[in-house]
Amino acid sequence: MARPPRPSTDFSAVLAAFAFFGLFLAAPAPRAQVNTAAITIVGGELADGTGAAVRRANVRIVNDRIVGAGRDVKPLAGDTVVDATGLVVAPGFIDIHNHSANELASEPAASSQVAQGITTVVLGPDGGSPWPIGEYLDERRRSPASVNVAVMVGHATVRRLVMRDDYKRTATDAELARMTALVEQGMRDGAVGLSSGLEYEVGGYADTRELVELGKAAARFHGVYMSHIRDEADKSFEALREAIAIGEQARIPVQISHIKLGTVGVWHKAADAIALIENARKRGVDVTADCYPYNAWSSTITVLVPDKRYDHPPSVEKALADVGGAGNVLIVRHAAHPDYEFKTLDAVARSRGVTPVEQFIQIVKDGGAGVVCTSMVDADIQAFYRQPWVMVGSDGGIGVRHPRGAGTFPKVLGRYVRELHWLTLPEAIRKMTSMPAERLQLRDRGRVAAGAIADLVLLNPSAVVDRSTFSDPTALPVGIEKVFVAGELVWDSGKPVASSQKRPGRVMATPN
Ligand SMILES: [Zn+2]
Repeated sequence: MARPPRPSTDFSAVLAAFAFFGLFLAAPAPRAQVNTAAITIVGGELADGTGAAVRRANVRIVNDRIVGAGRDVKPLAGDTVVDATGLVVAPGFIDIHNHSANELASEPAASSQVAQGITTVVLGPDGGSPWPIGEYLDERRRSPASVNVAVMVGHATVRRLVMRDDYKRTATDAELARMTALVEQGMRDGAVGLSSGLEYEVGGYADTRELVELGKAAARFHGVYMSHIRDEADKSFEALREAIAIGEQARIPVQISHIKLGTVGVWHKAADAIALIENARKRGVDVTADCYPYNAWSSTITVLVPDKRYDHPPSVEKALADVGGAGNVLIVRHAAHPDYEFKTLDAVARSRGVTPVEQFIQIVKDGGAGVVCTSMVDADIQAFYRQPWVMVGSDGGIGVRHPRGAGTFPKVLGRYVRELHWLTLPEAIRKMTSMPAERLQLRDRGRVAAGAIADLVLLNPSAVVDRSTFSDPTALPVGIEKVFVAGELVWDSGKPVASSQKRPGRVMATPN
């Protein structure tokens, strides 16, 4: 059911109203009639989103905005006081790669996202977006979620609109012109950039020139080009070069989505990928990336075989070798033989006295299987996360059947910061807040500072950690104690705030 839009609680508007009445009525405005809600968070350690060292600071919020952050900030009479002793106060996390576009309407509380400290989701990645963008954003304005939303224009979405089912080829000039007009329309409607998924069915038929032209269109509206690049396996380097070339030729900032090196042939080559990107950055190409904190993907067993010849032993053999062998393929769902579940393909094959290739072919014949495939190495993930231009993104979302859907941000904080010391806490939080905010020009977000919107996370740095696993991908994390969106408490002590029916999430659009 649609509810009326929430009235604006813009603090500067309130101040402006005071000034207006003060000037013309020459009398102090009646304080009691202004419905202000003031909260002061006291005793916490502030990680302000910039990467600066954590420091003791109180944070005061009036309505939807932060009005002060510092040691000298004190609660005023009438403030609600929140005790943050032992907790870190941080800006709300911004997930730059989130697949919740369809689910937000039915699950506006977005519990699995808010539970991680996410206060903003960027939707429409990998080339697939809602359409029309304007209608989608209006619907979010009419029926807000607990989290803020921003949307990309999906390249495959506009390609499909123009080429219909005849998309298995390069586009003609006339088709490209129509796609350009659609990208412009989406950007005008409020999209923050153009996304592509060049490893997928529709987007994969586009040539580089098509993406350069569409990138130019997004650039005219100050958007970014965000890409699931053409290959994340043996041809990763060619794919990275193409993404850089698109940015260079279209003069648009490039965001490499979920940067990874996903086959044995490119494992341990993070340094080369980093050098490639660093060189581009030195030439003035604005390239950044996001990375999810998992070394495994989850999908159906057939996606292992890129040439789709599932009963062709040499194809299957190459596919298994590419992921480091059948020991890296965990069967998680197989209706014909539930007894295979949570065993590796290698273990099942050995127990039956067949080769892994034979076992693979039999499983496909028996209806296929859900698998979790370990196909990245931690050393590469670590190297990527240590780059100052790599941010945290989940590639998850509401209901996603991979632990990243419910665990990404707490996993980085718990495992990579606290347990493994790959990153400092302020740097990890910067990668979750001010970096994506700046990348997408999200105003007044990503930092804790006077004037910013009060999207905040209070987390316990010694407890925060993910609990989602490949067998239980939706288990919620622990240690995210409180989450505020636009000054409203939406998450408290491990659950959504029951009285929070207001859904304070807003729509964010790139200022054109
Ligand atoms: Zn992707």
